[in-house]
Amino acid sequence: MNQIEKTLSIIKPDAIERNLSEDIKSIFLKNGFQILNEKKIKISKEEAEQFYLVHQSKPFYNELCNYLSSGPILVMILTKENAVSENRALMGATDPKDAKEGTIRKKYGLSIDKNSVHGSDSTENAVKEINFFFKD
Ligand code: UDP
Ligand code: MG
Repeated sequence: MNQIEKTLSIIKPDAIERNLSEDIKSIFLKNGFQILNEKKIKISKEEAEQFYLVHQSKPFYNELCNYLSSGPILVMILTKENAVSENRALMGATDPKDAKEGTIRKKYGLSIDKNSVHGSDSTENAVKEINFFFKD
């Protein structure tokens, strides 16, 4: 069933550094997402470790947490029908080399680690991730 959902999107340090946040936001808006809330922040390594806790056993966990805490990020709550899967589709594959034409990672991603955007992977995780960054 089609449901209006919320999902968490992050524009990662590599994209902020290249001043791509307005371009990426306009892609979301053109694709029917509304941005309900947004803030530009810099998180600590400890916060990144908490955010990516599901990946703690992965070989890339330490580098991933160093990276996400290495510079400013833009965190956003996006909404539309089926926002979680729609955002995953618009982002494209984790590795930009595998991402399809027309996806954000294909257009802007530099590598599997510097892949420009994060998006929640399930409605349950979307709720958790939104609460992580927007507690009020
Ligand atoms: N990642 C990485 N190396 C890998 C796999 C993932 O650096 O071999 C990073 C990548 O930045 C990715 C993040 O870890 O976005 C989280 O991985 P996940 O599998 O959840 O991919 P995503 O949900 O972001 O597509
Ligand atoms: Mg993921």
